[in-house]
Amino acid sequence: MTEFAIFTTTSEGRIATWNPGAEHAFGYSRSEVIGADFGLIFTAEDRAAGIPDAEMRIAIERGRLDRDCWHMRKDGTRFWGTNTVQPLIDGEGRRHGFTKIVRDSTERYEAAIALRQSEERFRLLVESVDHYAMFSIGPDGLITLWNSGAEQIFRYRHAEIIGAPFSKLFTAGDTARGLPEVELRRAAELGQVENERWQLRGDGSRFIARRRITLLKAGSLGAAQGFSVTAHDVTESRANEKTMRKQAFYDELTGLPNRALFVEHLQRTIAHTKRHAGSRFAVLFLDLDQFKTINDGLGHVLADQLLTQIGQRLRACVRPEDVVARIGGDEFTVLVSSIASTKEIIGLTDRIHAAMEPPIHVEMHEARATTSIGVALGTDAYDRSEDILRDADIAMYEAKALGRANTVIFDDRMRASVVSRHAVESDLRHAVERDELFLEYQPIVALGDLRLVGFEALVRWKHPTRGILQPAEFIQTAEQTGLIVPIDQWVLRTACAQLRAWQADALDAVPLTMSVNLSAKQFSHNDLCQRVQRSLAESHVAASSLNLEITESTMMERSETVASVLAELRALQVDIHIDDFGTGYSSLSYLRMLPVSAVKIDRSFISGMQANKERGEMVRAIVSLAHNLRLTVVAEGVEAVEELRALQELSCEYAQGFLFARPLSASAAGALVASRVPLAFSVALRDVANPSSERVIASGPERRRIPGTAANRAPKPARPSSAANS
Ligand code: C2E
Ligand code: MG
Ligand code: MG
Repeated sequence: MTEFAIFTTTSEGRIATWNPGAEHAFGYSRSEVIGADFGLIFTAEDRAAGIPDAEMRIAIERGRLDRDCWHMRKDGTRFWGTNTVQPLIDGEGRRHGFTKIVRDSTERYEAAIALRQSEERFRLLVESVDHYAMFSIGPDGLITLWNSGAEQIFRYRHAEIIGAPFSKLFTAGDTARGLPEVELRRAAELGQVENERWQLRGDGSRFIARRRITLLKAGSLGAAQGFSVTAHDVTESRANEKTMRKQAFYDELTGLPNRALFVEHLQRTIAHTKRHAGSRFAVLFLDLDQFKTINDGLGHVLADQLLTQIGQRLRACVRPEDVVARIGGDEFTVLVSSIASTKEIIGLTDRIHAAMEPPIHVEMHEARATTSIGVALGTDAYDRSEDILRDADIAMYEAKALGRANTVIFDDRMRASVVSRHAVESDLRHAVERDELFLEYQPIVALGDLRLVGFEALVRWKHPTRGILQPAEFIQTAEQTGLIVPIDQWVLRTACAQLRAWQADALDAVPLTMSVNLSAKQFSHNDLCQRVQRSLAESHVAASSLNLEITESTMMERSETVASVLAELRALQVDIHIDDFGTGYSSLSYLRMLPVSAVKIDRSFISGMQANKERGEMVRAIVSLAHNLRLTVVAEGVEAVEELRALQELSCEYAQGFLFARPLSASAAGALVASRVPLAFSVALRDVANPSSERVIASGPERRRIPGTAANRAPKPARPSSAANS
């Protein structure tokens, strides 16, 4: 064994035996040292100080001596040796020399020195720093050092804390969970841990401390000597980070999660659904209807308040675990994390639509908002959040196309229809020239005696491959691409020509009117008036027979140009009707200034106006307001006899709706004109639950009134608008 140097000496200190370990440790061969004074292994200082003799003396006195000291090698270098000296006693108890065992422990010694030095350095540092808490902990977990920074940060004075356990700095909960011990154990294993933790102050208050706990060790081999800890207070900056995180993940206006956070939740839900077969969720994509108009009408500040209130209403519709986010200007999303059935989602979307109905009060204003909702049902087929969001978005667009306040649930066919939206655009370019468009005509009746007074021309597209398309499927694209201008132009010419033909056929009939829809786009073309004039001239139709329908939102969006164009049109004797009235935010004082003849109350107010008290009130208010402004009122979308009666009670002048007739082909409408049947007859007979336009045509020439209506009310003028502005 060479690790230990073992040798013996005589009582006088002469070397008697010398093992290989000694040869290795001291560099002297056996033959070199036998008989020499053992003092040669001591340093000159120790020899001068009489240490070799002192060692022997103490070993005799105590029976054994253990001590560490410097030793000299033959080459003059030193090493730190741990040595044991014992007297050699024979059988009779006589001492005849000593054994000495020496082990080189330089490495340990240096580590100890280093530790002492670093402790010294730490102490200096500790004492010189105020804003950092620095303290140390012994291997027993008790606090051994405490600087003035620690006094300030932890609010324990030096005298109070020295000797106290490390756990004193932890909250009761953390201590109960054994956190202080866990931390020290981890620091012992890893050498250092760094983290942030709530810490308890001497006065009982708490703060977030960023701390670094370092194991103090006597060199690489040495035993743990305890820990040094540095800590500082980061409560404030963490609070800032919290607000920063809030800004990064929450919508500032509504306080709802933003798109980033929504996507995070969605991703988690997708992952959960993959793990739990059969679990389902749903994503709702909401877009407020005609928000631009609301925004323009209210101004940004109030519109913002409206959005906030809408956010609150949405939140109130869902369960606490569902996520409601605002992901864009007027776009909201809802993540319904677990659903049992599609019916449940329908229930939710119905609740949302209902929640939107009551007017929203922003300061002095009363505003109304409806929303279109697209729903994508989440199954484990979805991998990516963007896919399901896209599908919900597609469904939302379909809902928009149906009009206001609708819900559409995504199905795979829709994806194809989105692809075809692009196709629509290129096909639409040719639709007019290839003569693929045609018109249907929906009767408009006077509510007093249910006489037919005119038609609204509604465009349809006989697509070469997709069959007959409704306006909802292409008008939006047409407007976006500007193709609406030639289309409306065609509609205007065709409708005027048709009206002229009917008028010629029925020479003695009351003059019929034709209502034609005008897109907002038309108003950016300054030749609109000339084109209208030209169409009238070509068809020989009197300007007074033509009603142009402009939606309320168009009026508001293009208020600058609209006023002057309308004035020109009015000068031609053409009547202007405001379409979809009630859905926009037109100020009535503004309407009064425009040369408008009539308002068409939007279908969404008429349908269910009997059952829904608020809608009924709304209709009543619109009618009386319009009448005050000397405007004629046309009710759109009348489907039930009760609605008809209610409108008659309100003295609403005209109506249009499936109750009377669906939009009819030119020939069916022509037959109706020729038969001169009052539509009252068909209404009395028809099965309201199963409206069919054919019945209207099939009805006989007899004139009857439906029971319970204002039977003897004086007939209104044939032209819906002639009552106003005259
Ligand atoms: P609009 O001008 O408000 O036309 C009334 C719409 O309501 C028509 O839908 C009509 O079929 C429908 N309708 C009428 N009565 C009832 C009813 O009792 N119940 C229900 N559920 N619906 C009823 P359509 O034909 O699908 O037209 C939709 C919209 O497309 C029109 O709304 C109009 O804004 C636009 N549009 C139609 N033709 C043209 C056109 O030639 N040019 C322009 N620019 N837009 C057009
Ligand atoms: Mg219309
Ligand atoms: Mg309308």
